[in-house]
Order: sequence, then C-alpha cells, then structure tokens
Amino acid sequence: MDFDMLGFSPKMTARLTELGLEDPTPIQAQAIPHAMNGRDVMGLAQTGTGKTAAFGLPLIHALSSEGTKPAPRSVRGLILAPTRELANQIAESLRGFAGGSHLTITVVVGGMSINRQIGRLERGTDLLVATPGRLIDLLDRKAVRLTETRFLVLDEADQMLDMGFIHALRQIEPLLAKERQTMLFSATMPKLMSEIAGKYLKNPVRIEVARPGQAADKVEQEVHFVSKEGKQDLLVECLNGHREERALVFGRTKHGSERLMKQLDRAGFKAASIHGNKSQGQRDRAIQGFKEGTIKVLVATDVAARGIDIPGVEFVYNYELPNVAENYVHRIGRTARAGRDGRAVAFCAPDEMSYLRDIEKVLKTKVEVASGAPWAEDTPPPKQGGRGGKPGGGGRGGPAKSRRPRGRGKPGGNRRAA
Ligand code: AMP
Repeated sequence: MDFDMLGFSPKMTARLTELGLEDPTPIQAQAIPHAMNGRDVMGLAQTGTGKTAAFGLPLIHALSSEGTKPAPRSVRGLILAPTRELANQIAESLRGFAGGSHLTITVVVGGMSINRQIGRLERGTDLLVATPGRLIDLLDRKAVRLTETRFLVLDEADQMLDMGFIHALRQIEPLLAKERQTMLFSATMPKLMSEIAGKYLKNPVRIEVARPGQAADKVEQEVHFVSKEGKQDLLVECLNGHREERALVFGRTKHGSERLMKQLDRAGFKAASIHGNKSQGQRDRAIQGFKEGTIKVLVATDVAARGIDIPGVEFVYNYELPNVAENYVHRIGRTARAGRDGRAVAFCAPDEMSYLRDIEKVLKTKVEVASGAPWAEDTPPPKQGGRGGKPGGGGRGGPAKSRRPRGRGKPGGNRRAA
C-alpha cells in the first residue's frame, strides 16, 4: 500500500513525498480509507504511530475538495487536543500537509491572549485546533460557533479525560453540526470513554494499532535498581556517556523536576525543563531548543510532555517511575518514533517496586536489569505527588536486606527487553 492508492489528489501525494512520507504507517493504512469514505473512526493508537496524518490528510482532502469558504466565526473542521503543545504540534503538521492549499489553520489554546484569538476567528477558519477549555471560553464569548463544523477530531481523548475535560466535552458535542464525521484517537480506552464515544461517534470503524505494551517493541528497555539518593549520580553517569545525544528525563512532580534540571545545569549539562509551573513561552523555548539541539537534556513531567513529537530522542529516562503504568508506555513512546530505535532507562528505588511490577504487567514482559537487583516488595509506594514514602519498612535506601550496592551496568545498555 502506498499513498497513491488512498485517493488523495496528485498535489497532495506530491506534497507527502516532499515531506518524506512515502509509505503509510499501519494506522494510516487502516484509518485513511474509511476516513476518506466519510466513516466515523475510533482509533486506538498512541502518538508516534503517525495518527496526525491518519486524520489530518483525509480532513484536508475533504475540506479542499469542497472548495467552500468558512462563514465568519465559523469552523469547518475542529481538532480537540489535551495540551497546548500537542495542539501546536498538530497545527504545525497540518500546515505541512496543507502546504500550497488555501485552507486556514488556526490554533486556540490557553495561556495566550484570548483577544488575539478572537480576532483571528472573526473571519472564520477552515481548521481549528483547540484545547477544550479555551474553546469553551471562546464559545461563551460568542467568538466562534460550531454549527457548521462537519469534521471533528478528538485527539488523545484519554488524556483529555485524565485532565478533567469531560465537562467541556459534554458541553461541546451538542453545539456541533449533527451531520458530521468524527474521528476519535486514544492510546487507552478507560471506562469514561464509552460515554464520550457514544455521544460523539456514529457507527464507527474501530481501528487498533500497537496496544499499550506492544508499542514498546522497538524501544530497548532497562532498569537500574538504585536508591533515591543514588539516582542523581547515576543519571549524571548515564548522561555523561552520551553527551551528544538527546535525553528526555521524566520526573513525577513539578518541583522535583525543576530541582533536578537545576542540578543537571550545575553539573554542566545543557538542560531545560517543562512542567505545569512553566509559562507557555518557557515551554515552547525549551522544546524548540531541544529540537534544535541547543538543549540536550529535557526534564519533564507527564502532563507537559504527553503527545509532544520530538524526533530523534535517543534516550528516555524514567528518573522516577510513573504511578500510572500506562504513562510509562507513553513516556518511552517519546523515543523510537517513526520507526527509529530508542532506549528507555528506568531508575527504580525501593518504594517504586510496585510501580515497576504494574508496568511489567502492562508490558507483559520483564524489563531487563541493567544494575542492582530487585528490591524487597514490602515498601509502600511514594505518596501521590510527594517526594517518596516514609523510611519505615524500607523507603529511602530500603531496608538492609534490600539495600544493595549499585552495580556499574553499562548505562543505556543495548539489549532489548525479552
Ligand atoms: P504522530 O503519531 O502523528 O505524532 O507522528 C509521529 C511521527 O511520525 C511524526 O514525526 C511524523 O512526521 C512521522 N510520520 C507520520 N507518518 C509517517 C509516514 N507515513 N512515514 C514516515 N514518518 C511518518
């Protein structure tokens, strides 16, 4: 299968070749034919699978074939995404796909001047990429209407639910054109999703590529068993071995991530951080620097990093393991994107043993041990959002029986998880 066979205009296929997209990825090969036929699509797929093009190309094809213009303050196609970063990234991809067409593509996200966004929506827009909260604000101010929105995409729908956008999603649906095509993409299908899917989708085709756990296939994974106190030195040691490669380091909390970034900066690394306490401008600059290579180490929390497409990240460090196992899969999905191989290195302290076990359940495999040995499993997990469990019964450093000298396994060793 190649893009020629999917029914796009010759101009669009030429554009794809220019962009270096030659063969459709599995999600594209499965979703595009249905989307081109006007069907609703429910896609179980993560970022990194090429899902932006899977919905973006049919959308641009449909809108440019109609040859109509949007009415003032109306929107022809709406894409909802959970975070500002993802919204911006989607818009950037769409602009790439639509290059040379007359389509207007607008982004409205929180943290930016609403008045400027109101101004931009005034003349109507072909494609609007929005975060749900800001869209509601704009709808309340009557800056935009969705009655003519006949194409809708919900991207990273599970993340929108995680972030509490359920009320916004309930509010938005009745405002859309009843006759429309809707595509929903999500990495996971939590229970609440059936309500959203039931409201938004009509007889959708279900498409599934790389269930969480399977997506990790291309990523070489390993875990170091290391005490909380030993993590920073180990990270520096790992990073030192690969100074010219880009590393994304995940922390659990905003403060912890900021502190770690500053320590890395002091240790001479070109480091930046993205998390909820950073302004939009700071986040954009950090990501841009990381893309350009002026920043080599980006410390991030889950919410800030989800959905961001940063090509060529060689290493993902799980400096602190996520308490939601699926987030591990999302995190390591930042590497090995678009078919590249990548490495994911996890640091597991005694009180994170249960997290590691949950992750391995989702992965359906054991993560290879790079150094140390599994801790005793009697240590309570860290408090949500806190800095770690109480030392009683293990905790920092772990009980004597589980305290082991940290091995000197080669950081970023290159064997795959079984
Ligand atoms: P996404 O899952 O949409 O975030 O896409 C992940 C990455 O895959 C992006 O950098 C895309 O440019 C890239 N990509 C998407 N489709 C293809 C394709 N057909 N061939 C090669 N790379 C692609």
